[in-house]
Amino acid sequence: MSDLVSIFLHLLLFKMVAPVTFHHHRYDDLVRMLYKVHNECPHITRVYSIGRSVKGRHLYVLEFSDYPGIHEPLEPEVKYVGNMHGNEVLGRELLLQLSEFLCEEFRNRNQRIVRLVEDTRIHIMPSMNPDGYEVAAAAQERDISGYLVGRNNANGVDLNRNFPDLNTYIYYNEKNGGPNHHLPLPDNWKSQVEPETQAVIQWIRSFNFVLSANLHGGAVVANYPYDKSLEHRVRGFRRTANTPTPDDKLFQKLAKVYSYAHGWMHQGWNCGDYFPDGITNGASWYSLSKGMQDFNYLHTNCFEITLELSCDKFPLQGELQREWLGNREALIQFLEQVHQGIKGMVRDENYNNLADAVISVSGINHDVTSGAHGDYFRLLLPGTYTVTATAPGFDPETVSVTVGPAEPKLVNFQLKRSTPQAATKRRIPNSGHRGRVLPKKVQPRAARKKETMMKQPQRGPA
Ligand SMILES: [Zn+2]
Repeated sequence: MSDLVSIFLHLLLFKMVAPVTFHHHRYDDLVRMLYKVHNECPHITRVYSIGRSVKGRHLYVLEFSDYPGIHEPLEPEVKYVGNMHGNEVLGRELLLQLSEFLCEEFRNRNQRIVRLVEDTRIHIMPSMNPDGYEVAAAAQERDISGYLVGRNNANGVDLNRNFPDLNTYIYYNEKNGGPNHHLPLPDNWKSQVEPETQAVIQWIRSFNFVLSANLHGGAVVANYPYDKSLEHRVRGFRRTANTPTPDDKLFQKLAKVYSYAHGWMHQGWNCGDYFPDGITNGASWYSLSKGMQDFNYLHTNCFEITLELSCDKFPLQGELQREWLGNREALIQFLEQVHQGIKGMVRDENYNNLADAVISVSGINHDVTSGAHGDYFRLLLPGTYTVTATAPGFDPETVSVTVGPAEPKLVNFQLKRSTPQAATKRRIPNSGHRGRVLPKKVQPRAARKKETMMKQPQRGPA
């Protein structure tokens, strides 16, 4: 083979296999990278900041959508959060790689990625703790090793122990009755949390997120809620025990989708630990209070899991490409999981959209609510369910639904105003919310689009 042909083939291969460079990105590099992706794909991306860290660094998010900046009714919102612990850096790099990958594959008209971006609004935050990262990266450069250097934020606080503790309330309510979702924040919550945590709480309250993953390192396992153990005293001893949510089977499936699409997570033996199927209930591994995944589930409609992605919290640069190839398919498949279960519009008799209507599934003691546009999303495994929509001032409506394994089933509700006598007799279970009638009809453009476009999800090459 002539040298020229060899160089040409090498360049071709390089372009196909490694269009991006695999190296660690300090803060300025990270910001440049986000804007680079945005400039390459301006029509399907938006860069925004949800606030600043203690040291004033922005907490940037890169959004992917066919209409960036806009919530399209019936199009679910999903998020990835990386680098919450500043010294656990693989998630940060994987999310940058993922951003570049989504942009390039969309431009290459990869049908799987085109459909994902058109049907889903994806929010990617590569670093929730940019201050901690800089400390960890500086220590790495000076070859100072330390398992915890850079883990916390600049005030020395572990951000995954910094969210309001709502588990105590839910464990009480599960025993004694009371709301099973959207537990309220304490009045003084802002004074109890760090700036990064406050920004994230405001962020997850302002979007109706349905699905999320929080990327960590130090082990290789997909960890699902609850993280905080419902502590039992056994003959005077305290032990932590598997503490499942009412959505345990669904969470196990979400975790397994990641672990089995991952190159080696599902094998179970990693970093000297063994987790069957590469998944674990958080509390049964070790109990953790005030974590982010429990908070997402108990305060919002969002189902979040925590992904532990590498034994080494700060992998060598030379490891990054292998890690990306091991995680790429899993990162895409997990996003696709948001398209399952049921979804639909909740409206009144005059076709006004109802926000904050409560959607209950019989047998699952965890309700979800409709978002500001009157649309709701309820992740469910395949099966037949009895589903009820309620809103104060309206008669509840109950339907039986059979959910298949592929695309979500569209189930719309049209609630009738209740007559005054009926309203006094009826007790609306677990609501605690006011159904809000929206003045204007929001055209469910996504709904029409879905009906024509949604097909069986492809599992082609990514
Ligand atoms: Zn961590």
